[in-house]
Amino acid sequence: MSVLTGGCACGAVRFTATGAPRFAFICQCRDCQQMTGSDHAAQFAHAAEAFALEGRPAHWDRQSAAGFTVRKFFCATCGAPVYGTTSRAPDIVMVLAEALDDPAAITPTAIVYGEERITWDHASVPARSEGEA
Ligand SMILES: [Zn+2]
Ligand SMILES: [Zn+2]
Repeated sequence: MSVLTGGCACGAVRFTATGAPRFAFICQCRDCQQMTGSDHAAQFAHAAEAFALEGRPAHWDRQSAAGFTVRKFFCATCGAPVYGTTSRAPDIVMVLAEALDDPAAITPTAIVYGEERITWDHASVPARSEGEA
């Protein structure tokens, strides 16, 4: 069974995600830019019940345009973002791929919120082969 491990930059927050990630993507939305201090965030969705934490991340909440509460978890010591949740889908967590011990362990297959892309962000995802879902 697949086991993905990771955490924040200083190691105070660690996680283990057991089983296959559901969906990996690159998000170019303004929130992800500000949250990561970068041009985009690569993330994967994972079953909340298969996501185990060590340490106690801090969090902050914001309301999405659609009225859902989005909660962002980060390390209070080093400030690194680690994962997020949304009241829209409480059974999943959205984990930052950059927080993985091996970020290449997942492969983003889509780019979302491309309309908020910074002009110099040239993120790309692998082209899908014929017949792939
Ligand atoms: Zn930390
Ligand atoms: Zn985003």
